[in-house]
Amino acid sequence: TVVVKIGGARAVDPAGALADVASLVEEGREVVLTHGGSTAVDETLEELGQEPTYVETPGGVVGRFTDEETMDVFKMVMPGKLNTDLVESLQNEGVDAVGLSGADGKLLEGKRKSAVRVKEDGKKKIKRGDHSGKIESVNSDLLETLLADGYTPVVSVPMLGREKSGGYTAVNADADRAAAAIAGALGADLVVLTDVSGIYEDPDDEATRIDSASTPEEFAAVEAAAEGFMTKKVMAAREALEGGATSVIVASANADEPITAALAGEGTTLE
Ligand code: ADP
Repeated sequence: TVVVKIGGARAVDPAGALADVASLVEEGREVVLTHGGSTAVDETLEELGQEPTYVETPGGVVGRFTDEETMDVFKMVMPGKLNTDLVESLQNEGVDAVGLSGADGKLLEGKRKSAVRVKEDGKKKIKRGDHSGKIESVNSDLLETLLADGYTPVVSVPMLGREKSGGYTAVNADADRAAAAIAGALGADLVVLTDVSGIYEDPDDEATRIDSASTPEEFAAVEAAAEGFMTKKVMAAREALEGGATSVIVASANADEPITAALAGEGTTLE
């Protein structure tokens, strides 16, 4: 089984990846597609006259603050428009795709978090009202049932967040980490397709791509090279491998057969 994550970045066109999913499925490989969509969520927020909010943790990691209105837009855009568009495209490629959010069948479940530590103007604060969570379990049975019946699951966040008071709320979770949790639970390879062709030693120089890392020293070098959003991908990769994924490959989405190429080593392979 291969879990494929397509990026939400502006420069990523999913067409090549979707055609490749179709050929892999045709060859009899089981594929689970997952996707991000942060840019689309921000665009819709702005169209609705709302300002996307990003906060910085005391550790320096930047992430979205998801208040209630943002959460509504998130649900509209991610499992709504983006997921349906991907299912539609795959159906046109002859793939019997099934769209799922993390709430469906408790696919992605974990504790909801509403208070987050942030750094604002150099001061540490607690910001309340966040809709986010940490994925603790994956309903791999649901995915395996669909795969066994010939369907191709297309998964998007939100996840299903468990409230302290009991009950559930659908909340935001990082798409790379969701893909990692799924790959771990399925013991699959994870292909993370993005707008760069791998993890570069010098983030600005494609020629410095790190082809692979498997020892702790090599992994440390990858962690040292990653900046900004790539930091989260490397963190997710580590979680995937610790969770049981067989390999994680970070590769370019803008290639002819991006998944096949990634599985053949065209990218940064972590194992
Ligand atoms: P996506 O939206 O596809 O999930 P992100 O924007 O989150 O992708 O992450 C990919 C970005 O990470 C690249 O466009 C690049 O600017 C940045 N980046 C940071 N450090 C590195 C690195 N060492 N090698 C390659 N890209 C890096």
